[in-house]
Amino acid sequence: MIARRLLALLLVATSACIASTGCAVDADGEEDADDDVQMGDGMTSEDELVAERQLNGSELPNKTISLTFDDGPGRRTAELADYLAEHGVKGAFFINGSKVAGRQGAIDKIVGRGHLLANHTHNHKQLTSLSGASVVKEIADTDLIIAQAQPQGPWVVRAPFGAWNAAVARSINASAMRKYVGSVFWDQGGALTSTAAADWDCWGKGVSVQRCGELYLNEICTKRRGVVLMHDIHDKTVDMVKQILPTLIAEGYKFAALEDVPSVKRAIAGAGTPVNDDQCQSATLGRPVNENVCVQSRSTRRWSRCVDGEWISSTGPSDPRCIQRFPL
Ligand SMILES: [Zn+2]
Repeated sequence: MIARRLLALLLVATSACIASTGCAVDADGEEDADDDVQMGDGMTSEDELVAERQLNGSELPNKTISLTFDDGPGRRTAELADYLAEHGVKGAFFINGSKVAGRQGAIDKIVGRGHLLANHTHNHKQLTSLSGASVVKEIADTDLIIAQAQPQGPWVVRAPFGAWNAAVARSINASAMRKYVGSVFWDQGGALTSTAAADWDCWGKGVSVQRCGELYLNEICTKRRGVVLMHDIHDKTVDMVKQILPTLIAEGYKFAALEDVPSVKRAIAGAGTPVNDDQCQSATLGRPVNENVCVQSRSTRRWSRCVDGEWISSTGPSDPRCIQRFPL
């Protein structure tokens, strides 16, 4: 893995997508190599299954991304909503209901400017460690705010920390909150490495706005499509968006509203469709599958098998328990 990281570092050095030079990475092979590096060290097999369990942007067209902002509203959320709208970009704001007091103006601005208001729970607790009743309350309390500001929906949720499993999904689907689709995961912005960044980690470790923006651009320009994760609760993130957006526009990038990301769009169209307890929702296929169906993730290339409503790792073609396989 050390050798692969070195290779990735060299690729960045020779083909970085930075503010002064723009994107220069355009080969499919490099995209695959980078995926392996990103999903490598430090991730458990449980983490690796996220791609199959949650919605992502891996089916977006080439050079198309969807900007998402979590943990707000913050002091500069309204300013960010204006800035994006002035550049013709529709973002998605995954709010924490507990942060809204005193910032209703930001909520009105998000909706008024045509962005999506989405649910990131009320108190940003890890849903997988809560009781079913608490999971539903975390979603429902913030839903009161969203339903008032955006009464027609759509209803989209992202779990804090990306922590999502079959038990959480079942609790929500057994309540009035079943109108929500998700959880929406991300393709860029998940981790601070030598080739990519997570904004909150940049600010915590003293990485400059300039450098953090360059790392975001590098990850976006390497993968070329996806849902981008940022956090509007941080003032510096607004500065970083203002730094990288003009570069992306100049490079010909298109910005999809989150509700138009294929996996999210399919989920919204099918919202409320009951899923049996032993079925699994496949982000790759965009529909539920039955027990012992095996699917290869479009974003990670890894195989998963549906067992008792939950995805587990599979060897795919050589797994005799797969009754049906969906390879890429
Ligand atoms: Zn969050």
